[in-house]
Parts: sequence; structure tokens; C-alpha cells
Amino acid sequence: MNIIPCLDLKRQHAQIKNEIFSEFEKVYTNTAFSGGTFVEEFEHLFASYLGAKHVICVNNGTSALQLAVMTLGIGPGDEVIVPANTFIATAWGVTHAGATPVFVDCLPDTWQIDPRDVKRKITSRTKAVIGVHLYGQPFEIDEVIEICNKHNLYLIEDAAQAHGAEYKGKKVGTFGNLACFSFYPGKNLGACGEGGAVVTNDEKFAKKIQQLRNHGSLTRYYHDIIGFNMRMGGLEAASLKIKLKYLDSWNEKRRKIAQRYFDEIKNLLIKMQKQPAQLKSVFHLFVVMCEKKEKFIEHLTQNNIQPAFHYPVPCHLQKAYSHLGYKSGSCPNAEKLSAECISLPMYPELEESEINHVISVINQFR
Ligand SMILES: *Cc1c(COP(=O)(O)O)cnc(C)c1O
Repeated sequence: MNIIPCLDLKRQHAQIKNEIFSEFEKVYTNTAFSGGTFVEEFEHLFASYLGAKHVICVNNGTSALQLAVMTLGIGPGDEVIVPANTFIATAWGVTHAGATPVFVDCLPDTWQIDPRDVKRKITSRTKAVIGVHLYGQPFEIDEVIEICNKHNLYLIEDAAQAHGAEYKGKKVGTFGNLACFSFYPGKNLGACGEGGAVVTNDEKFAKKIQQLRNHGSLTRYYHDIIGFNMRMGGLEAASLKIKLKYLDSWNEKRRKIAQRYFDEIKNLLIKMQKQPAQLKSVFHLFVVMCEKKEKFIEHLTQNNIQPAFHYPVPCHLQKAYSHLGYKSGSCPNAEKLSAECISLPMYPELEESEINHVISVINQFR
């Protein structure tokens, strides 16, 4: 049997190659390589997909997070609450805006941001909370919004892993003051290249982000604020336009695979993410926990299944943030998740025989 990788992008891109190449040809003919009509077209399509007023595309998800934080006027001396268990870029957004990330723990069952720990870590300097829809599963948005309202804090959603996920029947990316997406190739909606977007219903914020991404300028060669070059490319936008048509069907396939994992993996050594009924995950990743991690990895690889790890070190214990002085034990649930997490193969193109193999190999693990 061939090795089953944790993620295989080749299968998807082989299917849609012709469609994407003919769109690339239009970009080429129009030389619309930076920003421009193809980017604007995708912005409108993605806004209507989400049910949001404004989508502002940028060069990647990390820039989206930085611009979101800056747009809220958050900077040096301010604190932003961020989950300890996320991809590090959530925290970069805060740091690159000049503010300080304050890391909070996750819940032991859903592995999402712990609202009680958010409350505990609020200080007079706290300006915002960034909630992450980790692995494609929405966090407890209502509980976090209630805390934000009570303490006058902004909410930013990091939806980089959750294109199309729903909370109480509404798409994530429409709940916070601002939301950030990534179109990194491996995400549920990934560009042929790099990309990201900020989403908002607030016209003022939208204008500010458009200005910041384009050299601080709304009128060419007039620079009213200090800006960046964080524009999206036309080829990336063209690929996203084609792929957006398939997003719902791809997400549905991920859900079916996840449902099989939930129903058919029967092994007390393997713990899965709790799925509250009010939300619909899009299973960007399928992460399980196992106390005998090393043995489990060996068992999977011996049986031609390639695992991955999201993420082996929680943000608060990364060397880059050692100056913030966190000790191990300060976010115990996030630390346990990091120590025991293993990502199983998860992508829409997984074949029936491969899914069967993954399930039976895991059920044989002792
Ligand atoms: C991928 C990701 C990002 C960063 O996006 P890039 O496009 O890679 O810069 C931010 N947050 C989370 C949770 C992510 O998974």
C-alpha cells in the first residue's frame, strides 16, 4: 500500500487544473498581476459567500491579522488576548502591531479558547480578544462576545482554518468586529500562491485596511498614513475565484470523513475533539490526542499512515516569546494538547479504501 500523507494537494489541483489555467490566462492577458479587477471580483464573491459587507484581500493571513489589530488603533502598551494553542501567526499579528499578546488556556474537551481564562487575564491594558476557530471548529463565540461587550473589548476572529464553518447557523468570519482569513495553499480555501483577507461590516475599518495594505494611500501617490505593501496578486485571486465554487462540496466531503472517524474509531487510547451541537466544523484538520504518542506515531508510520502535529509547542512556550516570561504549567490544557496531539489524514480527496485503512489501523493500536 502507498503511504497515505496527512495532506495531499496534488489530487485537488489535478482536477481543476484546466479551469484555473484558463482563468490565469485572462489575468496574464490583462496584466492584472497586483491588486486590480480579479482581486476585486474575488472580494465581492467571498463577501457574498460569507454574508459580510467588506472583504479586503491581502498578501497572507499573517498580514490580515496585523492589519486587523492596527486598524483598531491597538499598538505599543496595549494587550490582546490570544489562545496559547494556535498557529503562531495569530500572535504575530499582535506583536507586529507593537502590542503584547497575552496567552490564555483552552478548554480540555473542545480545545477552544477558555472564556473563564479570558476573564482572568483581562487588565486595564487589554484592548481586544482574538478567538481562533481552531482546526476548522468554531469557538464558543457567544460566551466570548459577552465578555468583550462587558469589558469593552474588540473581538477579532482568526478564521484562517475555518472557511465555511458555521456557528448557530451563521458563517464564521461575520461575528467579530473584524475577522481574518488565510488562503495559504493548504487551507480549506487555498490560493495557488499566498493570500489572506480581512472581513468586516464596518465601512471605516474597511477603508483603513484598504489604505494600510496599499502604502497608506487611497488616492495614488497621496500617502495620508504610514502604510505597507500587502496587496494580493491577481493570479492568486483568479485561483481563489475558481476554488470558491468547490468549497462547500469539499467541506462536505471533509465532514463525511470526520463523521466516519468519529463513528468508527473505537479505541480508548485515542481522544477526539468534542463537537458541540450548535456548530458545524469544516475539519481543516482532524486532530486526536494520545497519551502514548510516540508508540502511536510508530504504529501509524509502520502502517503507511503519515501523521502531522498541530502544534507541538504552544505559543506561550515558544522561544520567540521567552521574554514574556511564561512558564510551563501556565496553560496546562494547551500544554497537554501540544504533548499529545496527532493529526490524521484529512482532505476531501481521501479515498474510501484509505479511510478504511486509517480506521482499522487505529483500532488495532494497543
Ligand atoms: C495559517 C494560519 C495563519 C496565517 O496565515 P498565513 O496565510 O500562513 O500567513 C494564522 N492563523 C492561523 C490559525 C492559521 O492556521
